[in-house]
Amino acid sequence: MKRIIITLVIFSSIILLIFSCVKRDYETVAESKNVPFQYKFGELKEGENLADALMSRGLNRGLVFQLVNELNELFDLRYSHPKDKYAVKLDTLGNFIDFGFQPNKIHTYWVRKDSLGNLFSVVDTLQLTKKISVCEGEIESSLWNAMIKIGEKPSLIVMLTQIFQWDIDFFIDPQKGDRFKLVFEEFVNENNIFVKYGNILVARYQSPAFEETAYRYTNHQGETKYYDETGKCFQKAFLKSPLNYKRISSYFGSRFHPIRKRRIFHNGVDYAASYGTPVEAAADGTIIHRGWKGGHPTINGRKGGYGKTVIIRHANGYKTLYGHLSSYGKYRVGDRVEQHNVIGYVGSTGLSTGNHLHYTIYHYGKAINPLSLKNVAGSPVPKREMSEYKEIVKNLKTILNKRDSVAENDLLHESISVKKR
Ligand SMILES: [Zn+2]
Repeated sequence: MKRIIITLVIFSSIILLIFSCVKRDYETVAESKNVPFQYKFGELKEGENLADALMSRGLNRGLVFQLVNELNELFDLRYSHPKDKYAVKLDTLGNFIDFGFQPNKIHTYWVRKDSLGNLFSVVDTLQLTKKISVCEGEIESSLWNAMIKIGEKPSLIVMLTQIFQWDIDFFIDPQKGDRFKLVFEEFVNENNIFVKYGNILVARYQSPAFEETAYRYTNHQGETKYYDETGKCFQKAFLKSPLNYKRISSYFGSRFHPIRKRRIFHNGVDYAASYGTPVEAAADGTIIHRGWKGGHPTINGRKGGYGKTVIIRHANGYKTLYGHLSSYGKYRVGDRVEQHNVIGYVGSTGLSTGNHLHYTIYHYGKAINPLSLKNVAGSPVPKREMSEYKEIVKNLKTILNKRDSVAENDLLHESISVKKR
C-alpha cells in the first residue's frame, strides 16, 4: 500500500512537472527510470494542428480523432497556437491513460477515462494568488526601457499608455526625467512566479508639462474607468464642433466643388459662421502649424488652399486642422493648448467662397469624418458615489506610498468538469 502511494505521488509529480513549468525539459522527465508509463508529448509547431502533432508522435488515428473531439468540447482548437503543449500518457502496452493540453500557463485541459472506459474532458485552472505591487521608474531613453529596467514587462507599458492616451502621446511626448509610479495587480503561481498582470489600480505620470494620478474605479453601473482625485474621468473626447456655427455648408466626402467646377473629395467639414467667430481647440494638444497653407487642394495658378491655418497635434495619433481663418489666437507653434482654447477666428482666407471654417481630423495621417468620430468623454464619478470613491482613493494612496508588494490572498481555484454520456 505504502509503495502504491509513493508511486502515485511520483506519478502526479511527473504530470505536475510536465505542466507546471514552461521551460521544463520534457525528455528528462520521461526518461526517468521510475516511469512505467510512456508519454507522447511536445509543443505544436508552426502550422501544425493537434491531430497532426499527435499522429506524428505515433498515436493511432482512431485514438487521436477521439481525443481531439473530446478536447474540443472544452477548448476550441481553432484557438490553439504554436508552442501549445500536449502530453499523452499511455501504459507500457500502449493503452490510453490520459491526455493533457496546455494552451496557456493557467489552464490545462484533460481528456480522461471514467471507470466504464468513456472519455471525458476536464479543465484544471492553476491556483493563482493576486498580489498588489508597486513600481516606479524614471525615463532615460524611453518609457519602454525604463519599464524593462525595473523588471516589468511590455504589457504593463501598454496598460499605462492606455490610461493616459487622451493626454500624452507616448510616441512623442515622453522626455528624459519623466517619472511614473504604478500600483498594479499581478498574479503569481504557487511558487511565487509571475504568471500575468491584473489591472493597474493607480497610475502616476510626472513630466514638466503633465502631472496626474489616475485611479481605477468601477461605478455602480459596472463601468470601469480611470479618474483623477476629484472624480474627473481621464477619458476625453474631441469637441463635437470647434465653434458656434450657423450651418454645415459642406460635408465630408465627394462633392461638387463650387470653384473648381467638378467633383472632388472633401476631406473635412465646412462650418459656415460669421466673420470673427472664435474657433476652439477640439481637444488638448500642441500647435504644430500656424500660417498660410496650400492644399484643399490648390487650384492652378491660384494661391491658396486652406489660407490661414492652424494644425494641432493630439495624443493617440490625431491631428486637427482649422482652415480659412481670418486671424490666429495667441498660441504659437510648440505651445500646448487645452480643449476650448481659442486658436483662431473664422474668415475666408485661401480658396474659399465665404466665411467658414474648414475642419479636418486626421488619424495617423488619414483624414476621417469629424461627424462620425465616435469618441465620448467619460462622465465623472457620480455625486452619490463620491464618498465611496474617496475612500477607495485614500486606500490606494496608502499603497502608492508603500514600497513593498502586498499579497492579497483571495483568488481563483476553479475546476470545471464536463462529463459526457
Ligand atoms: Zn472645406
